[in-house]
Amino acid sequence: MVSAIVLAAGSGSRMKSKTAKQFIQVGEYPLIYYALKTFEASIVDEIIVVTRKEDIEYFKKEIVEKYHFSKVRKVVAGGKERYDSVEKGIIAADKRNKIVMIHDGARPFITNKMILDSISETRRCKACTVAVPVKDTIKVVDKDGFGISTPDRSTLYQIQTPQTFDRGILLEAYERLRASGDKDITDDTMIVERYLDHKVKTIEGSYENIKVTTPEDILIASALLKNR
Ligand code: C5P
Repeated sequence: MVSAIVLAAGSGSRMKSKTAKQFIQVGEYPLIYYALKTFEASIVDEIIVVTRKEDIEYFKKEIVEKYHFSKVRKVVAGGKERYDSVEKGIIAADKRNKIVMIHDGARPFITNKMILDSISETRRCKACTVAVPVKDTIKVVDKDGFGISTPDRSTLYQIQTPQTFDRGILLEAYERLRASGDKDITDDTMIVERYLDHKVKTIEGSYENIKVTTPEDILIASALLKNR
């Protein structure tokens, strides 16, 4: 049994738009529609949406009811940082579901194959993420902008979502994160690796699985939609 937690509680400040990012129209529908549609049609048992407190009622009416997303069990308020929002999603999810899948609502092009592959891999090794090899050379730079090192590109991956975990492992990792007081967390694979010393498997993502973050990403997402 699988819970999918779909995150849509970011401030969207990099989008520079008056409309909250998840509600911006892309093609025929609001951005958040696409990921929810894929989860609705998949084998996940429930969807928990995490959004900003002030958007909860609008979300329920204008997204969940309007598009008949019957697997959305709860729409809950997020927190200040992404990991605060994830934790609220985990708490809201059905405790009987042994697998928890976390997805950025800002990634509309998740596929059913990613969901299925993630579930199988999590059954095998308890923690996995979709990822793609980086295309560019990546450099570590100092505070003045001078390069310090250039890691071997063949070992570098761009980490995407969904990220999928055995529920017990994820809960324990979050407990340890809270105890540590650390704040430099950008995703859940980091938390599991750092506090549990548990390896996270990367599985095949897609270069189309973009995170819509800045205004030009809307253009890219619109073009990708036309191509589907
Ligand atoms: O900020 P970032 O690009 O990492 O956000 C990735 C996803 O996490 C987005 O879908 C965003 O809505 C969500 N998020 C959240 N709560 C936060 C920050 C980000 O749900 N406090």
